[in-house]
Amino acid sequence: MVQENLPKQANCNPGVESSHLVVACLGGDKTALERRPVPLPSAGEILLRLRVVGFCGTDLFKLDAGNTPAGTVLGHELVGEVIAVGNGVTKFSDGDRVVVPHHVPCGECLFCRRGNETMCDVFRENLLEPGGFAENILVRQRATERAAHCLPDHITDEVAVFLEPAACVLRGIYRADMDANGAAVVLGSGSMGLLHLLVLGAVFPGVAVTVVDPVPERLATAKKLGASQTVGPGAEALEAVLASTNGIGADAVFDTVGGNDTLEDGLNLTRQGGSVVLFAHAPEEAQARYNLNAVFKFERRILGTYSAALKEQAEIFELINSGDLDPSPLVTHKLPLDDFERGVSLVRKHHALKVLFTPSRGASGL
Ligand SMILES: [Zn+2]
Ligand SMILES: [Zn+2]
Repeated sequence: MVQENLPKQANCNPGVESSHLVVACLGGDKTALERRPVPLPSAGEILLRLRVVGFCGTDLFKLDAGNTPAGTVLGHELVGEVIAVGNGVTKFSDGDRVVVPHHVPCGECLFCRRGNETMCDVFRENLLEPGGFAENILVRQRATERAAHCLPDHITDEVAVFLEPAACVLRGIYRADMDANGAAVVLGSGSMGLLHLLVLGAVFPGVAVTVVDPVPERLATAKKLGASQTVGPGAEALEAVLASTNGIGADAVFDTVGGNDTLEDGLNLTRQGGSVVLFAHAPEEAQARYNLNAVFKFERRILGTYSAALKEQAEIFELINSGDLDPSPLVTHKLPLDDFERGVSLVRKHHALKVLFTPSRGASGL
């Protein structure tokens, strides 16, 4: 159902509609299409018409947690086409295809200077107005200036849309401080697990990657995408990882599942001195439970990684530009925004890997 919430906003750009459809959170785990005024770009900003937006595990986590304020528009893996530019913008013009992340650090504060850019005070500001699940998206100045990339014709929307999530994955890989010819384990063979496999293959082709998941069909996809071995969790994984690493364990384990059980699995599969990288959301009240000596006596590290900074985004852009990284095989569904709830349910039920949304069926300009 479309909720009317209409504007009295002047529209000074010919060709730009005065209102558009967005997918608004209703305050729990549900959303609804809502008609809103199209935001117009101020100085330094650009307005995009949606081409594709990825549905991310973070979006699902926020919906399922049910505490996202009503009216919020989620979505941050965005490719759009420029339809209006604010004063002073010289980098982009109408018709450009653009990929842009929602979070951009300031570049100057203590966190930025010490390499913890994603902890920067302004980093969590959403620079996409109202959010990616909308037919039109305003890109704020800091993102336009520092983080938006114009896409050459040979990079498809389905590849470019992975820039933001792949950059998050790359940050975790670098934080693990891996050897270029080492051994890695990825726990979970959902879209983020498989993206780890692909990004590891692009930056460290010499790393052997074991993918662990209980679902055989998912493991088959991982095998097809280049996993050196695929196994079920628990004892099966331990045996396979030890057998393939001369009995010492993996240099790094990437946990894309989350929770105590996989953290313990991660520590068991990691060699002495190796790293377990936590890449999954945890509920607010979640507490860890693991053997302290697995960390203390054996120099293992448990690392958090959050989002991505400009350097990882720039590096992923180069990898997709060169063709070394192509995550488009992970896309299983492309649905219009007015099928949003169906897309969410496909991901919830694990019937989809990566779902992309396109403008709603009635949208103009298509
Ligand atoms: Zn994301
Ligand atoms: Zn900063």
